[in-house]
Amino acid sequence: MADFDFIVIGAGIAGASVGAHLAAKASVLILEMEERPGYHTTGRSAAAYEPNYGARPFLPLSRAGLAFYKNPPTDFSERPIFSRRGTLIIEAKGQEEASQHFLKPGSNLREVSVDDMVALIPVLRRNYANRGFYDDGTGDLDVDLLHRGYLKWFKQRGGKLDCNAPAKEIARVDGHWQVVTPQGTFSAGAVIDAAGAWGDKVAMMAGVAPVGLQPKRRSIGVIPISGHGFMDWPFFEDCAETWYAKPQSGKLIVSSADQTPVEPHDAFADDEAIAVGIDRLMQATTLEVTRLDHSWGGLRSFAPDHFPVCGYESSAPGFFWLVGQGGNGIQSSWGLSRLAAALALREAVPEDLLAHGLLLEDVLPARLRK
Ligand SMILES: Cc1cc2nc3c(=O)[nH]c(=O)nc-3n(C[C@H](O)[C@H](O)[C@H](O)COP(=O)(O)OP(=O)(O)OC[C@H]3O[C@@H](n4cnc5c(N)ncnc54)[C@H](O)[C@@H]3O)c2cc1C
Repeated sequence: MADFDFIVIGAGIAGASVGAHLAAKASVLILEMEERPGYHTTGRSAAAYEPNYGARPFLPLSRAGLAFYKNPPTDFSERPIFSRRGTLIIEAKGQEEASQHFLKPGSNLREVSVDDMVALIPVLRRNYANRGFYDDGTGDLDVDLLHRGYLKWFKQRGGKLDCNAPAKEIARVDGHWQVVTPQGTFSAGAVIDAAGAWGDKVAMMAGVAPVGLQPKRRSIGVIPISGHGFMDWPFFEDCAETWYAKPQSGKLIVSSADQTPVEPHDAFADDEAIAVGIDRLMQATTLEVTRLDHSWGGLRSFAPDHFPVCGYESSAPGFFWLVGQGGNGIQSSWGLSRLAAALALREAVPEDLLAHGLLLEDVLPARLRK
């Protein structure tokens, strides 16, 4: 039976990124149930970098990755992963309360007037908005390049990736984890649960109590759009997060920011949710949407407090959680994966994460076990 220091379950952005760091110091096997990595949530994001978005720990974890995404080493990616695109958060009429928390110190958001907003998004209806908040430090992430970069490093550093290899049984035998897959049985000192929406299912397979992970479906519609200059529009949304839109690959993506609790599955778009998103976009702008180009759905998975879960499970030696990235798993991947690798190797937390304000107790699974 092949033996490793670590077996990582799941080859989405979480598994690939932690695998890349661990493989520099340890023997690592990544098991992926699908025939290719990135098929589930990682391949279905909105590809946005907006570090103000999400629960408290995501801000430092995302900010810590910006320099890397802007200028990755050439053996990771020949091209930058980040391209600049501002974010405009619009306070619609009646949303005065929802926007209270946006102007906080260090958030990089500045208040902008209706005139400023119309200059950014010429189709915006003047009577829709009271005011807005603009962040010029945000951008688009090339998710495919980022994910492939992590996998490239992982393989260069001696890591082994097995696809079509769902973990079917996980058991602790003589102080080692044994993972049974259709490709064979593998053993390791530690198992890293990076199974995304299936995180709790994998834990239960290993006899570990779930942390209460809830996958929530989000649907995105892609609409054709013509005219000059729209590719330069910022990511734009209302401040209550009831819809958002963003130019992407010559089209506009739109969502009603739906978050329907579901069981883990191969997600598909909810047509009704997309129709609601398009309707809200048309209320906010003068755009006339008559056709949907295509759509997709994906699962964003949340711990009960919406913070990520990263660290060893105290009740099960060698069982490590790396789940609960919600809507932030791409932008936080550089920070979170370095944290996860350090904790898995029982090394010190990277200084830059602490300097960005990360509180370790926010991410450790122990907080959910009280
Ligand atoms: C519509 C949408 C928009 C989003 N927009 C953004 C955004 O703009 N910015 C951002 O940062 N984040 C965004 N996200 C969130 C981000 O995509 C996720 O946080 C991230 O992809 C989660 O990565 P993951 O590796 O944990 O999960 P996944 O990519 O789902 O990977 C988990 C893997 O585990 C595998 N697996 C499960 N069970 C087993 C098993 N038993 N054995 C072997 N393998 C198994 C699965 O096949 C899967 O490949 C968005 C998500 C959605 C759905």
